[in-house]
Amino acid sequence: MKQLIAANWKMNGMPGWADKVGQLARADVSDAAELLICPPAPLIGALCEAAKGTSVAIGAQDCSPDEAGAHTGETDAELIAALGARYVIVGHSERRAGGETDAVIKAKAERAIACGLRPIVCVGESLDVREAGDASAVVVKQLCASMPEGGDYDIAYEPIWAIGTGRVAEIADIAEMHAAIRKAVGPGPRILYGGSVKPGNAQDILATPEVGGALVGGASLEMDSFASIARHAVEQS
Ligand code: PEP
Repeated sequence: MKQLIAANWKMNGMPGWADKVGQLARADVSDAAELLICPPAPLIGALCEAAKGTSVAIGAQDCSPDEAGAHTGETDAELIAALGARYVIVGHSERRAGGETDAVIKAKAERAIACGLRPIVCVGESLDVREAGDASAVVVKQLCASMPEGGDYDIAYEPIWAIGTGRVAEIADIAEMHAAIRKAVGPGPRILYGGSVKPGNAQDILATPEVGGALVGGASLEMDSFASIARHAVEQS
């Protein structure tokens, strides 16, 4: 199975950024990895159009747990899928920080699956939890409460203290956490690592056992650096 190298553009992007899909496709790294860009919701349609005929997949950064209806400001998973997107990130720590609970994240993941999308369920510990030595237990508990009951999905392990900070977890800690997650969920989901992944550290991270790819924020905004990360992807059994 190919590793999934996923770009989380967060709240960055303008209509002209649809051109980045072509730039990434021309970088010719799709043999090495499965490539995914998750732009802000208003750009999903334009990116899906730009991705037609390429091997770049498009995803959303969030979706509603509800069916279409009176939910102002929310984005329906069915609409995301109808636009041509294939993935949706759920439970990113920047959304959990706004009060999103494990139960809501689970409902979002299940709604995404019902609409034909593959959710990427994000989990990760705070620095306090890491320093207290409870990281694995806390992350596994968080995951068990937020993962969908059945259906195909992926997981992103993102230590909160490593997101956008330039700090990266030690390779031994990544290996330990990914092994704990694999033991808890069994075979199937890819387990991505996220947290300040850059071209310079991607090789070691992507070569770590049970790392099924990377969720990349800052370094995904320029296609040169994103493609450089994807070049370090390795095929997994
Ligand atoms: C993220 O947004 O999920 C992330 C990991 O960001 P960064 O790569 O900038 O740390």
